[in-house]
Amino acid sequence: MSSPYGPAAPAVQDAGAGHLLSLRGVRKTFPAPGAPGGRRVVLDGIDLDVDAHRCVVLVGSSGSGKSTLLRVVNLLDEVDDGQILLDGEDVADPRLDANRVRARMGMVFQAYNLFPHLTVLDNVTLAPRLVHRRARAEAEAAAVEMLGRVGLGHKVTAYPDQLSGGEQQRAAIARALVNGPELLLLDEVTSALDPELVGEVLDLLAELRAEGRTMLVATHEMGFARRVADEVCFLHEGRVHERGTPEQVLGDPQRERTRAFLRRLH
Ligand code: ADP
Ligand code: MG
Repeated sequence: MSSPYGPAAPAVQDAGAGHLLSLRGVRKTFPAPGAPGGRRVVLDGIDLDVDAHRCVVLVGSSGSGKSTLLRVVNLLDEVDDGQILLDGEDVADPRLDANRVRARMGMVFQAYNLFPHLTVLDNVTLAPRLVHRRARAEAEAAAVEMLGRVGLGHKVTAYPDQLSGGEQQRAAIARALVNGPELLLLDEVTSALDPELVGEVLDLLAELRAEGRTMLVATHEMGFARRVADEVCFLHEGRVHERGTPEQVLGDPQRERTRAFLRRLH
């Protein structure tokens, strides 16, 4: 019971309220090879917020934990500790239905992950029909519209191996978008592409950003990060080592490891 004469209530600690996505103290370990029973810490207490209509870009060396971070957000890997709050609800709680949570996100991986035996259209309609239980005609109409928006309206009946890498990745992006996800998770989606195909995919992502899509993006493309990021987080050994605007982190890094990482890219 609180007394009207008692001390003022302490300020409510920011537990992710108001953010679309918040990570609090997220920790993830994997078994360490060669050390029986040993664990390797891959995410070491990550705090991160993504507000609706904002784009947060993760940068860092290979092995710094970017993919693992995206995978735990999409509940593809379980965390050891910490909270993953989606609209304030802790979705890392294993009692929740992971598919219901995942349906609110769209994820695109480095390698296109299209099903080779399905047409582009069937790849894009699979989740709407199976997960979201939409009728075939409705799912196909939504898929055709989305494929048109990513510039693949003429390829709906093609199979993945009949597409260029850039087209396959645009199809994977259409598939991630077709259910209207609240959050897009993009993991180095241009890394597997031939250099001349990178631009078309980055341009598409910049358009999605301009539409106000909420995005959490891991990338090695610093030019792209500068163009789209509201915030850049530099990960090092599973920690957010430096964060800020792209101008701050990429243009005027404060910490030596960030500077060393950026030097190596040149
Ligand atoms: P990044 O995407 O920044 O390159 P990752 O998140 O892929 O980094 O990997 C971070 C570390 O976690 C790496 O050392 C990697 O070897 C390790 N790791 C990732 N996934 C697994 C796994 N399933 N089992 C064991 N170790 C893993
Ligand atoms: Mg990775």
